[in-house]
Amino acid sequence: MKKLKRLFCLCLVTGLLIFLVGCPATAPKAEPKGMAYFTYFDTVSYIYSYASDSQEAFEANCALASDILEKYHQLFDIYHEYSGVVNLATINANAGGEALEVAPELIAFLLDAKEMYALTGGEMNVMMGSVLKLWHDCRENASKTPENAAIPTQEALTLAAGHTDIDALEIDEAKNTVRITDPEASLDVGALAKGYATEQAAQALKDAGVDGYVLNIGGNIRTIGTKADGNGWTTGIKDPQNTDQFAARVMLQDTSCVTSGNYERYFTVNGVRYHHIIDPTTNMPAGHFSSVTVITADSALADALSTALFCMTYEDGLALTEKLDNVEVLWITTDGTQYKTPGLELL
Ligand code: ADP
Ligand code: MG
Repeated sequence: MKKLKRLFCLCLVTGLLIFLVGCPATAPKAEPKGMAYFTYFDTVSYIYSYASDSQEAFEANCALASDILEKYHQLFDIYHEYSGVVNLATINANAGGEALEVAPELIAFLLDAKEMYALTGGEMNVMMGSVLKLWHDCRENASKTPENAAIPTQEALTLAAGHTDIDALEIDEAKNTVRITDPEASLDVGALAKGYATEQAAQALKDAGVDGYVLNIGGNIRTIGTKADGNGWTTGIKDPQNTDQFAARVMLQDTSCVTSGNYERYFTVNGVRYHHIIDPTTNMPAGHFSSVTVITADSALADALSTALFCMTYEDGLALTEKLDNVEVLWITTDGTQYKTPGLELL
């Protein structure tokens, strides 16, 4: 797919989550460089350099990162196949059939997804494709013909939920093959895809010696190192009640910040909003929070946790974070109350 991209001046871009603060008047201000991409993960991605690198070096780094984003975009796509690529669409279409040989990157990712299932007690389950498809189809239908908007029937949800067993995903590391044993089961990696790809791109940039970059992949933020002055970046966490405003601000330095929110994707039936994060125990949109933001170095972990914590009570979620190192969380409930992990510093 041809990349649609464009250079732009950072100060002209509206709606950015990342912004500069606290530069002393005497400090030399390097103008950040930015690149936007519109073709990955059904969202907009930005790469920014706050380093004093040349335009040439910046473009080479963007090419390095965007090639990785494109590779994972293709591997994770459940709606389209690409020539020469065995991706999740191929694996889903082959459910119940033979094991398929896939790229080692996909094996590594699926093993990670299984680990995240175990870590989150099954709250983040990439094998929920059958249930998520019902909600996805209703959302699509509602956007095309709002007057016919409806939610999936309980019967359909219960039937689909019978085909979400994580063990139906068989991975043979030695042979590099994957097989879904249940013909009615399917993968949907929306909860983890952007964070995982972002982290892979960030690691490649780090390996190339990059410092002072910010990746914003559809709101999935990964900062690499610090700005030239040694400071981090201030990021606003959207107010779910009014997404033009921020509910909180945090400082990010060589870490990532990922939010799952009920305002991102939803549809309305009889005045009730149904959003896209589905609680595996009820098969309904999770109702505890309006948003959950996770700040931790590994963007894949941040993404998996943001979805999982969204489906858990605050108490259970806090207990999970206590078992993990350097994971900070801001929970915002549906009535606007904020809870945070003790280590999270709000500005
Ligand atoms: P976003 O994609 O808006 O950044 P998330 O990271 O929370 O938000 O991912 C939501 C997506 O994950 C949904 O669109 C759906 O594809 C998938 N999903 C929803 N609920 C779950 C769940 N409990 N476990 C695994 N995947 C889920
Ligand atoms: Mg997520």
